Amino acid sequence: MSPFRGRFAPSPTGRMHLGNIRSALLGWLQARAAGGAFLLRIEDLDRARCKPQYVDDLKRDLEWLGLTWDEQPLIQSQRDDVYRDALAKLEREGLVYPCFCTRAEIARAASAPHGLSEEGPRYPGTCANLTAAQVVERARTRAPAYRFRTRPGEVRFMDELLGPYSQDVEAVVGDFVVRRNDGVASYQLAVVVDDAASGITHVLRGDDLLSSTPRQLQLYAALGLSAPSFLHVPLVLGEDGKRLAKREGAFALAELRERGLAPERVLGLLAAWSGLGDGSPMTLDALVRAFRVEALPRAPVVARESVLSEA
Ligand code: GLU
Repeated sequence: MSPFRGRFAPSPTGRMHLGNIRSALLGWLQARAAGGAFLLRIEDLDRARCKPQYVDDLKRDLEWLGLTWDEQPLIQSQRDDVYRDALAKLEREGLVYPCFCTRAEIARAASAPHGLSEEGPRYPGTCANLTAAQVVERARTRAPAYRFRTRPGEVRFMDELLGPYSQDVEAVVGDFVVRRNDGVASYQLAVVVDDAASGITHVLRGDDLLSSTPRQLQLYAALGLSAPSFLHVPLVLGEDGKRLAKREGAFALAELRERGLAPERVLGLLAAWSGLGDGSPMTLDALVRAFRVEALPRAPVVARESVLSEA
């Protein structure tokens, strides 16, 4: 087997739709075309939104399409000790600090010109230099989140599909949360720790996470871990131009399965949205043969509901 190791890391917050299935399919194809391993990881740190039922559903969806995975899936909600170890390492190196700010306080304190990133206001560093006494005082009334001290300067990487990307994390995002104030590891920390623990060499995911990658690269460096290569695929959008939400009934895989669509028909559709086919039914084997990174679209794809009724 080649050293290639890819993965699909869904958050079980709803039924899978053709947009997230397409990311799973492309990750699977990339891994299988390279003769490598493909892993599944359950990203269920957001307890309020994740449900065990959705884990069963997504496994059934993947199996129905033939997207098999290797090894036992990592389940993030069971890995708190591993994330705590990583946080302790960052803490020993003085790279994290407790932050007592509420969202409202951050929004108020954030200022132009870089006040707003896509994910909310830049953290203005309010708690970056608290004294030990101030920390003790504030901890009496609030549990802190922990933030990573970002480094200034552009973080650059070469996306395998989208080409060069760079972001000055310090200027755009500011110090970011690695442990939330409810004690749970943040997505940014968990994804880095887990991809490294699983020896992932290639991350393929939706381009909604493109702007998270520079933060993750800073964490790889700070933790002394080697980073994988990244390929971000533009999302599938609904006819209204918005990304397919997990509740988007018409494009939920379970719905299509119940309506009697064959897996090859769904694969054919996903292939067409990926520059790998013309929309006619396709087998997974044919898709592995057709897979080429260069064929993947570099712009969002619009999913038309009419293609489903033609099925
Ligand atoms: N769990 C994330 C999501 O479902 C994906 C994380 C990743 O691929 O890095 O959006």
